[in-house]
Amino acid sequence: MTYTSPLPVTEGRFYEGSRLQIDNLVMAYGDVDVIRDVSIAVEPGTTTCIIGPSGSGKSTLLRGVNRLHEPKAGSVALADDDALALKPDLLRRRVGLVFQHFNLFPDHTALENVALALRNVKKMSKGESRRIALARLTEVGLAERADHRPRDLSGGQQQRVAIARALAMEPEVMLFDEATSALDPELVKGVLNLMAELAQRGMTMLVVTHEMGFARKVADQVVFMDEGRVVEAGTPDEIFDAPKSDRLRLFLSEVL
Ligand code: ADP
Ligand code: MG
Repeated sequence: MTYTSPLPVTEGRFYEGSRLQIDNLVMAYGDVDVIRDVSIAVEPGTTTCIIGPSGSGKSTLLRGVNRLHEPKAGSVALADDDALALKPDLLRRRVGLVFQHFNLFPDHTALENVALALRNVKKMSKGESRRIALARLTEVGLAERADHRPRDLSGGQQQRVAIARALAMEPEVMLFDEATSALDPELVKGVLNLMAELAQRGMTMLVVTHEMGFARKVADQVVFMDEGRVVEAGTPDEIFDAPKSDRLRLFLSEVL
């Protein structure tokens, strides 16, 4: 699969990402540790893809990074700040999260969905929020769909609105949790193209994905997780062409 830009690059802009560093993170549900001593560094402007079997802790890790579930031990640094000491609201403005299910407001247009986030979170005026929302929708190639409600958009377009909403906060890092898993197969490519475009434009991204083609092509670093731990991390070539552990070899034999 090739990744083509959904919009002319000249319309795009470049992002200034921040470094994200996770060190010795431990996370639990009740008494059960499901993230065990995980360390991952994502350099500014690079993309790290996390792969691994279902239940290995990928979603929990992302939830820890933006504190939807508080880590039990370890540290998360965003640029020079201790992410675990920031106010969660502030942290979530700096770290965008895009889920499998996009949770748009069904009775609002695409433009309003993005603008409402700007008004609520950034306390912008109505006019300003609509102006910026349109710019962000343009960035994801959806300017001409700005007045459509979610039900009149394809799943892929809805996910692009959700990405525009996250971009509107001007995040320093974007987290994606299986952003294309709920989409019909023919809609996956458009969203992956957009994510590849964001990566090219310098967004710092931590992407949980089952799309091995995307990980191979777009990631600077691939991390393989199993049972709450990082089993292997390396370049796409190292992970896909020269896996060291039996667990990764087995996983790849099942998904490729
Ligand atoms: P992945 O995203 O890799 O599929 P998850 O992070 O969702 O993995 O889950 C990691 C482990 O934590 C699994 O064993 C899962 O059953 C468990 N888990 C996930 N969410 C909860 C929860 N809310 N309460 C208790 N256990 C959970
Ligand atoms: Mg998950």
